[in-house]
Formats: sequence, structure tokens, C-alpha cells
Amino acid sequence: MTDSNSATPSNFIRQIIDNDIANGKNDSKVRTRFPPEPNGYLHIGHAKAICLNFGISKDYQGTCNLRFDDTNPAKEEARYAQAIKEDVTWLGFKWNELLHTSDYFQQLYDYALILIEQGDAYVDALSADQIREYRGHLTKVGKNSPHRDRSIEENLDIFKRMKAGEFADGEYLLRAKIDMSSPNMNMRDPAVFRIRHIEHHNTGNDWCIYPMYDYAHCMSDMLESITHSLCTLEFEDHRPLYDWFLDKLPVPSHPQQIEFSRLSLEHTVTSKRKLKQLVDDDAVDGWDDPRMPTLSGMRRRGYTPESIKDFISRVGVTKSSNTVEMSLLESCIREDLGQRCARVMAITNPLKIILTNYPEDRVEMMNAPFHPQKPELGSRELPFTRELIIDQSDFMEEANKKYFRLKPGGSVRLRYGYIIDFESVIKDDSGNIVEIRCTYDPETKSGQDKSGRKVKGVIHWLSAEQAKPAEVRLFDRLFTEATPDVGHGDQSFTDFINPHSREIFTNAMVEPSLFDAKPGSLFQFERQGYFVADAKDHKQSEKLVFNRTVTLRDTWAKIAK
Ligand code: ATP
Ligand code: MG
Repeated sequence: MTDSNSATPSNFIRQIIDNDIANGKNDSKVRTRFPPEPNGYLHIGHAKAICLNFGISKDYQGTCNLRFDDTNPAKEEARYAQAIKEDVTWLGFKWNELLHTSDYFQQLYDYALILIEQGDAYVDALSADQIREYRGHLTKVGKNSPHRDRSIEENLDIFKRMKAGEFADGEYLLRAKIDMSSPNMNMRDPAVFRIRHIEHHNTGNDWCIYPMYDYAHCMSDMLESITHSLCTLEFEDHRPLYDWFLDKLPVPSHPQQIEFSRLSLEHTVTSKRKLKQLVDDDAVDGWDDPRMPTLSGMRRRGYTPESIKDFISRVGVTKSSNTVEMSLLESCIREDLGQRCARVMAITNPLKIILTNYPEDRVEMMNAPFHPQKPELGSRELPFTRELIIDQSDFMEEANKKYFRLKPGGSVRLRYGYIIDFESVIKDDSGNIVEIRCTYDPETKSGQDKSGRKVKGVIHWLSAEQAKPAEVRLFDRLFTEATPDVGHGDQSFTDFINPHSREIFTNAMVEPSLFDAKPGSLFQFERQGYFVADAKDHKQSEKLVFNRTVTLRDTWAKIAK
């Protein structure tokens, strides 16, 4: 039974499991696994598979293994395996056992010998091109390889010599003997073991033959006594093969494969191959670039595990196509950060303000709470001085009536400070604004204002002398198209990279309290958005670096309207 405290919504997979438990199938036990291939970093799509597999094992008091599906040593690396472990742990899940398909190479080999002995597998000697040609296609039945009826003794002999390293890559191939005229292409004598003289990141040079995914996957599930093998829909047509191996071989259990739809996110790509291309082409700064939909990129961007799990739960688990708007993900992180983040002041494009009637050596400390609804987050003192800075966007020389921030002849309130009144604007020889001169109204100090003055605009500010220099990085969608990799004919997804996906402000200033911010800590910069102190660059050589996680409101929705 499902844990009654769990808020996880049910879905068709949970219903299947409920039924199996009710019928006593698998002794009413639930064992799942998450089987990534260590050939890249995990992305938001994987988060769906992780939450599903680990979530089910947790709610049904079962187990979930992390199994590296490492059967293709040419593309796999130990650093990817390491990053995958970090990401799963960061999301808050604990695996029961940490395993590798390569842990089973010997068993997979031994079971292959049984297939051969039973007459269910044979060694082929056709070239890759010939195999493709013999296979036929959807409307053309395949034809049998001339080596299909090789004797069992000869098959055993060659297969053992394949393992012993006597042959070159591609010289021989072990194939399951199924049906070359099957309407399901996966059943036309699929490959079981191939020769690859490549070192493996886990087994070194122990093996020069490697099992194929379809064979290795069902067998690994069986060897781990997995009860429900959850995978994405593209494996639906592989299920007959999954079952064929387990039916043919004398195995103690037969896991059930159940497919669900892949998660895709608009304005990005969720394929390790394509993400790797972005990294290799230097279109981004590595796998953990904050614009990447990888879990490590999202972490660096300021996404929390809670927001990602909330998003996955809202997306749900079905068999129907699952391309989700970015705005759903963004509203999940906004909601989470709105609850937990301190509000602080930061200015990306500083503009100097001189308060001509404020004494030069005076410093007033303005008490400001970190969160208006959360007194438990405490408060800090903001230094108020004669020279201040505001954001350039908060002053407009030729402003209309609806502009309530600072403008010639206008007044504005400095949040937690005073009302200031415009006096003059000072420009350099080329006409660029150097500073704005204002006066402050001493009767209007926040919290003690009895002046009765009302102004419509409230803006944020910093003391020019006491603010800290910082670099602020703003991010936007990585792709201008909602589905960059679908439906664009000959164009590549890389043709739709958003050239404005990152904007860096190197002259930004932040309030003094942020000088002590730890890498990874999250804030709301008032009126601007949620930001995180960059995990890599913040405070390297004293430089403060903040990444914008998300804006305060959905600015894209407005543009779309
Ligand atoms: P990619 O195309 O990005 O390489 P993959 O399916 O080849 O994806 P694996 O490492 O084999 O990546 O995936 C591990 C598990 O995560 C598999 O069970 C797979 O079905 C699941 N998975 C991968 N991508 C998604 C996705 N977009 N949505 C849901 N589950 C996914
Ligand atoms: Mg894969």
C-alpha cells in the first residue's frame, strides 16, 4: 500500500503496482532501479525518471538501485558517473545499492553460452553493411544470414574465441536467433554481444566483447530481482525482446517493463547527445552552465531540489507526450524561493545620486527586515549616506506621467529611507549622465514619517561608499524556439541558440551584508528577481558573483500576449 502520508499523486504505474501488491505478485514487494548511461550529465528529463523510481520505492517501502548502464565504453567516463551520483544525492534520494551493468559481464556471458547451447543464438560473420541489408525494413522482410545455421559447437567455439580476443572489432557478432521476418524490427535477430577492443572505465581490459543494451538491460533487471522496470516510451517496441530473453533463459524472476512518456521542456533540449554538443561546441560554459537544463546547471542557477520535485510532481506520469512550458518550472522555483529567501538590495546598472542637503560625514543606519512576512529571518542595518546609487532604469529624463520613479521635477521614496526630491542632472562633455543631484526630506524617514507626503514611486538604493562591487549574471532561455530540435526541417537545433541568453553586469553593486554570502546561498534582489551566489566564481579573489535564478514575474508571458 502507498504510504498514507505521501502527497504524491497516483498514476497508472502506481495503479499497476497497487494491483500487483493486492494479488501478491513478487511477494508483494517493490524493487525499482534508475539506470543512467554514464555518457553525460543528468538533465531535467532524468529527474522525472529519478523521482518516479525512487519515489515509488520510498512510498511502497521497497528498494531502488542506482545502476550505471555502462555497456558502451567508447562513450562512457568515470567523471560522468561521479556527476550522476552527486545529482541523485542532491535531489535527496538514497539508492539501495550502487551497481553497474559491467558488474554482470561474466553472468551475461554465461547466460549467452546457454542461449547458444539452446540453439537460440548464433555467431554471425556478416559485415555491418551486410547485416543492415539483410535486415530489410518495415515493409520488406529480412533474410536469414548464411551463418544462421552454424552448429552449436562451432558457435560456442567462435564465441569463446571472441571473448579471448582472437578477432578484430566487427569480425564476428553474437545474435539472438528469433525471426528475420518479424514486423517488429527489434526481433530480427538482434545483436547480443559485439567485439570492441576498448578499455572500460570499470572493468579495464578484462573484456573485449560487450553486451548490447536490450540483452543487458532485461538481464540486469532480473539479476537484481527488479519487480517493475520503468522506462521511457521509445522502449515500448523493445518490450517483446526484453521478454524474449527472460522467457528463453532459465532465470529465477521476470521483471515487468512499463513505459511512460519522456519529459521535454520548451526552449531547451533534453538529450545528453545534444547537450554534449553544446558543451563541445563551446556554446555554453560546460555541463553546469546555469543556462543548461542539466541538474548541475540548474543547481548552479539556483534551483532547489524541492522546486524540481514539485515541478515533476505537477507534470505527472502518463503515456502521452509531455512537452512542458518553461513557465511551469519557473513558477515552481518562484514559489519555493519566495518562501525562503531574504530580500536584499542590489543594483546592476549604478547611477550616482548626491543628496546636496545631507551632511558629508553622516551615516544613518536604516533598519530593514530581510523578509516582510518572516520576522524570523531577522533584519539588517542599511547605511544611508550623502552619496547613493540607484539603478539607471529608475531615472528617466523624459518621462511621461505614468513614470513614478525619479524624473526631473519629481520625487520618489527610497525604500527604508527618505523621500528625495529631484534637483538637477549633471552630464559630461559627451552628454552622458554622471550624477543626479537631489535633496532629501528629513521629515520623511521610513517608520517615523509624520510629514503626510505621499509619493507613488518606491525604489531601491545603496550607499555609494559602503556598497560592495559585484558581478551579476542574468540568464534567459537558451533557445529562441520552443522546440528547437523538432519540426525545423534541415535546420539544426543549434541554429536557434538565443544570442542574448546571458548578460553579464560587471559594475553591479550589492548591499554590505552580501559580502558574507556563501556560494550557493539564495536571495531575492528587491524588484529584480531571485539570485544565487555562484558556486564556482563567487568570492574567488574577493569578487562577488550572483546568478539570476528567475525573474520575479513571468516576463515572457507578457511578451507572448
Ligand atoms: P538521453 O537521450 O538524454 O541520452 P537516455 O534515455 O539515453 O537519454 P539514459 O541515461 O539511458 O538516457 O536514461 C536513464 C533513465 O532515464 C532511463 O530509464 C530513461 O528512460 C530515463 N530518461 C531519460 N531521459 C528522460 C526524459 N526526458 N524523461 C523521462 N525519463 C527520461
Ligand atoms: Mg541512452
